[in-house]
Amino acid sequence: MSTSANLPAVTVLGLGPMGRSLAGAFLKAGLRTTVWNRTPGKDGELIAQGAAGAGSAGEAVAAGDVVVVCVVNYDAADAVLRPDPVARALKGRTIVNLTADTPDRARTTADWAATHGVGYLDGAIMTPAPSIGTPKTVFLHSGPKALYEECRSVLEALGGTHTHLGEEIGRAATFDIALLDIFWTAMGGYAHAVAVARAEGVTARELAPFAQGIGAILPPFFAEFAEDADSGSYSGEINPITSAASTMAHVVAVSEAHGIDAGVMRAVEGMARRVIGLGHGTDGFLRVAEVLGRH
Ligand code: NDP
Repeated sequence: MSTSANLPAVTVLGLGPMGRSLAGAFLKAGLRTTVWNRTPGKDGELIAQGAAGAGSAGEAVAAGDVVVVCVVNYDAADAVLRPDPVARALKGRTIVNLTADTPDRARTTADWAATHGVGYLDGAIMTPAPSIGTPKTVFLHSGPKALYEECRSVLEALGGTHTHLGEEIGRAATFDIALLDIFWTAMGGYAHAVAVARAEGVTARELAPFAQGIGAILPPFFAEFAEDADSGSYSGEINPITSAASTMAHVVAVSEAHGIDAGVMRAVEGMARRVIGLGHGTDGFLRVAEVLGRH
């Protein structure tokens, strides 16, 4: 790996909000940084901060030891990386793919990289673009440990915490999917709660401190219920699923009385009723994880 001032040269492909934040952090950390984006005109601020602009993806790849890809999804990443001359230029270099997609797409991309003589690490960014370069940012990585160690100085320039989850290349995307599952269903619940509260004359601002309070109950549950999930014993001593299902029915009733779609809560209640129907009514809610996916 060639270095400038003992640091690898880095290329960033994709200059959306996240790609621009990544490139900005590399520049701040003193890394020689080359940037490229499919649609021209997004590199101006970065060039003003010292980045090298590139006229093509191939030119950008040729300028870097480590090639960070951050585009909308793997269809876009494939469209950038797989055609020649980019694929040819990648040979002998390392891709760090920070694009979000599914574990299977990570695996097929890793297979492609292996057959083209390209080092491949997959990653997921768990915090928003403005967090990049700060202690708050969280990155998850998977792929060959030796390659990860080789790229550490580049990755650490992005700030925050970096966790290598293992060599199986799909692991970063698997964690990403699971965490996004939590995040977006919670956000969907919050948006729905605001709609229902408003219909009853309560503003989002009035609700906010109590919404924060109920949100704060969740993190300890995640640790506690993980024990249950991994051991397969779901104690419902504190809140049996029969009682939980009854409160879900109240949410459905109030929503529908106001003409507000209760589809999400109906789905959750349906899961709870299924568990009860299978004879597990005295168990806790997480028993649901056992029956999901069962036909
Ligand atoms: P977007 O997800 O909106 O992606 C925009 C980038 O993708 C642009 O550079 C765009 O190029 C490029 N792109 C789209 N289609 C193609 C294509 N067919 N060929 C080449 N390039 C293409 O922006 P972000 O920067 O926000 O996100 C990038 C990745 O980071 C995503 O996977 C996202 O999930 C992830 N992420 C983003 C976070 C955030 O806070 N923004 C937080 C955590 C993860 P063009 O300008 O030419 O359209």
